[in-house]
Amino acid sequence: MTSAPPTWHTGPIGTHSTRLDEETLPLRTPRWLLALALSPLLLSCTVGEEREPTAPTLERPNLVVFVLDAVRSDHVGAYGYERDTTPNIDRLARKGTLYNQAIADASFTFASAAALFIGAPPDESGVLVRRPIPQDLHLLPEVAREHGYRTYAYTENPYVAEAFGFRQGFDEFDEALSLVSLLVAGGEIPRPDSSAAIERAAAFARRTADAPYLLYVHILRPHNPYAPPAGFKRRFSSSEHDELGSTTSLLAFDYGKKPFSDTDRQQLIDLYDDGLAFGDALFGACLRAVGEEELENTVVVLLSDHGEAFREHGRMLHSTTVFDEMIRVPLVVHVPGLPAGQIERPVQLSDLGRGLHRVVAGLPGAVTGLTTLGRPPTEPTLSWSVAQVGQVAVRTAERKLVADAKTGVARVVFDLVRDPGERAPIRSAEAKAAMVSTIGALPSLPVEPAADAPPIAPRVQKQLEALGYVND
Ligand SMILES: [Zn+2]
Repeated sequence: MTSAPPTWHTGPIGTHSTRLDEETLPLRTPRWLLALALSPLLLSCTVGEEREPTAPTLERPNLVVFVLDAVRSDHVGAYGYERDTTPNIDRLARKGTLYNQAIADASFTFASAAALFIGAPPDESGVLVRRPIPQDLHLLPEVAREHGYRTYAYTENPYVAEAFGFRQGFDEFDEALSLVSLLVAGGEIPRPDSSAAIERAAAFARRTADAPYLLYVHILRPHNPYAPPAGFKRRFSSSEHDELGSTTSLLAFDYGKKPFSDTDRQQLIDLYDDGLAFGDALFGACLRAVGEEELENTVVVLLSDHGEAFREHGRMLHSTTVFDEMIRVPLVVHVPGLPAGQIERPVQLSDLGRGLHRVVAGLPGAVTGLTTLGRPPTEPTLSWSVAQVGQVAVRTAERKLVADAKTGVARVVFDLVRDPGERAPIRSAEAKAAMVSTIGALPSLPVEPAADAPPIAPRVQKQLEALGYVND
């Protein structure tokens, strides 16, 4: 009874084409990875080869990848938000590269983070449903370690966890909310001591001066519940409304079980912004803890895994739609010595992952390439909701098609230039066909994960959902 097939598995699996699967390549072997493996540049650095550590340089920089969970880009100062929620992100953006249209591959943590780690989107990797990532996929920390990097992760999200395959390739993996701890947590979610964990991560960075390091830090802020610690509690919120931000309350709003007023919305946004300010402060603390001297040889990447909705389109939280509030995220890259800039063209988080794979593999131009990521305006990104909902967005800089990935039916198109809030759906067959033509054929849900990747035990999934992780 532990492996009932998912009910979404009804589409023409494996028959669709997005960008890469028109030949007979196995769907879960990204072509770029094959190209990498066959590259003459890499013939002298075969995967798995032992190599002497060498000190970090700008060709082999240290990497800090810092994820704040559930940040919508329009709540970040660097993206024009009027509140001072994110002074540390904004500071990085002033000296780094700001991606104005960074798009998550999925509106929920597991698939979005997996796309970043794999360096390929869900339709290529097959990794969308929350099951352990198949071990044959090569994750960023694995590539990094094979090329002489020391690797360290600190994660507070129970889906970016060993149980879901994210441990692969890390020398040290500090998991704040392990499934074991969640299983014994009863109704209370333990909030980890993020500051202490960040100190430990930075200490790892500082003690490995003989080799570059990859530091991955995933902080569960401003993710629900919207309950920031004392020092950040009243930045934007007022005292009477804290209970509104509990996960129970948020889910009641999400399911439409409670009336939702404009006042409720504003009070929730206030609480969310408090949590975002705390997350931003942790990011600043991380950079300070790593230290200025280290940062001279360190590429810093700040991003979020997905956005967050306040019922702009009927839903709260994330994972359930592919409207922009759930998929547009902040992305800032700072490469020491390179000028600041802004990139307008869309970039998908899996593109960033691919770029990071290239950096740790030492490919020529890869480091500079992190500041020029992005797609031509007409080449769409794809973003997925959770499979139970089965939405997929095909999005260019100007237009977005929302389709039902279970049935392969194109639903609506939005003109993102005239209608950035996605309020006025275009239902004409021509508009839909034009968007479908940008990718050749509508994508359907990715293939089911390999048989060697067992599903999470139902009691674990139940416990995650009981604790409020239903939407990740
Ligand atoms: Zn998340």
